[in-house]
Amino acid sequence: MNLSQSINDFNEAKQVIPGGVNSPVRAFGSVGGTPPFIARGKGAYIYDEDGNAYIDFVQSWGPLIFGHANEVVESALIEAIKDGLSFGAPTEKETTLVKQIISLTQSVEKMRLVNSGTEATMSALRLARAYTQKDDIIKFEGCYHGHSDSLLVSAGSGCATFGTPSSPGVPSDLSKHTLVARYNDIESVRACFETSKNVACVIIEALAGNMGFVPANKDFMRELRALCDKYNALLIIDEVMSGFRAGLKGAIGLYDVEADLVTYGKVIGGGMPLAAFGGRADIMDMLSPVGGVYQAGTLSGNPIAVSAGIATLCQIKANPALYENLEKLAKQLIEGLKNAAQSHKIPLQVDYRGSMFGFFFNENVVKNFDDAKKSDTAMFARFHQKMLQKGVYFACSQFETGFVCSAMNEEIIDEVIAKANDAFNEILYES
Ligand SMILES: *Cc1c(COP(=O)(O)O)cnc(C)c1O
Repeated sequence: MNLSQSINDFNEAKQVIPGGVNSPVRAFGSVGGTPPFIARGKGAYIYDEDGNAYIDFVQSWGPLIFGHANEVVESALIEAIKDGLSFGAPTEKETTLVKQIISLTQSVEKMRLVNSGTEATMSALRLARAYTQKDDIIKFEGCYHGHSDSLLVSAGSGCATFGTPSSPGVPSDLSKHTLVARYNDIESVRACFETSKNVACVIIEALAGNMGFVPANKDFMRELRALCDKYNALLIIDEVMSGFRAGLKGAIGLYDVEADLVTYGKVIGGGMPLAAFGGRADIMDMLSPVGGVYQAGTLSGNPIAVSAGIATLCQIKANPALYENLEKLAKQLIEGLKNAAQSHKIPLQVDYRGSMFGFFFNENVVKNFDDAKKSDTAMFARFHQKMLQKGVYFACSQFETGFVCSAMNEEIIDEVIAKANDAFNEILYES
């Protein structure tokens, strides 16, 4: 495979953009090699600057549930652009999108639009702190909620201690308000509540997609809700990735646990920068200008992004078998990968929900971040590289989730499974 143009592009980018990328995972740091620079995408495929084609299981890290350059989204955007790009004034479209989201989901009575998942979770935390008049928050190791200061925190030493910054530049005065619990371990959450006595909220990905794909178990989610009620803390379910991906009602629909606040992103923007947070009306009405909690954005509810969101959700609504069909593809893929690995005696853990899937090169079932970290990342890197050379674009880290889109079909998945078989053959032969 010729990547010479991407290599040139990467070298040039690195001179003016730190690491050559505008979001670190894109640099392929954990799998090595040069990231293909993408020229265009169509449906299930992306094409790099050298003209190589790839079947894309990243789909912009989740947003593109209908694949690249979806015609309905494209024409909605072209129409919207003719009327102007941004006004910084209210538009009807914003209400249309918010009503669409509310009608399709549960736990949300009112909602506000923002530009990124980071903003959505950051604003939800501020609201939870204001509502409960408490300062501390609980998050889970391995869950990702964007890069705001309060959430770039890892577990301190020992159990149920206050967190320490996971990035230079985050003040420890701030991270000490974040407690870090173990995913799928309710006792660790209870311990955090008992340590702090000042917990405003728990924030969680009910389907963790940022430590690889690790679903919460149902009892754990139910007990988490009960603990939040017991300690008068809010439950924030972060559906930025799982919303309209895991199923029509996201992770909340699969677990049947009500959240007080919910965050959305990715799919609701159809590929444009758009996210949202919402929840109970009494909490949301604490936001300025109704209440005193300040939150704002020059480009929030941008009409172009909102148009892409509406076009995406209209298609979702018009297609009742969408998630069932996507889940069939995810199941076919993940069972095919599992069989291919097994027949080469390579241990592989797999799981999927709706259009989301994940696999770990690991002997044991992965239930939390400690388990995930025991995965064979060197094996993942080899597999990733081989699949890339064969024209299959998987997320470039063991600790990410994969996505199927509606532009894929059984033949494409069969092709990928055949290539995975070849990749495992080569890996065994070479070692
Ligand atoms: C992607 C993601 C975010 C952050 O969203 P950005 O738009 O990248 O800021 C937050 N939470 C979850 C669960 C995510 O997957």
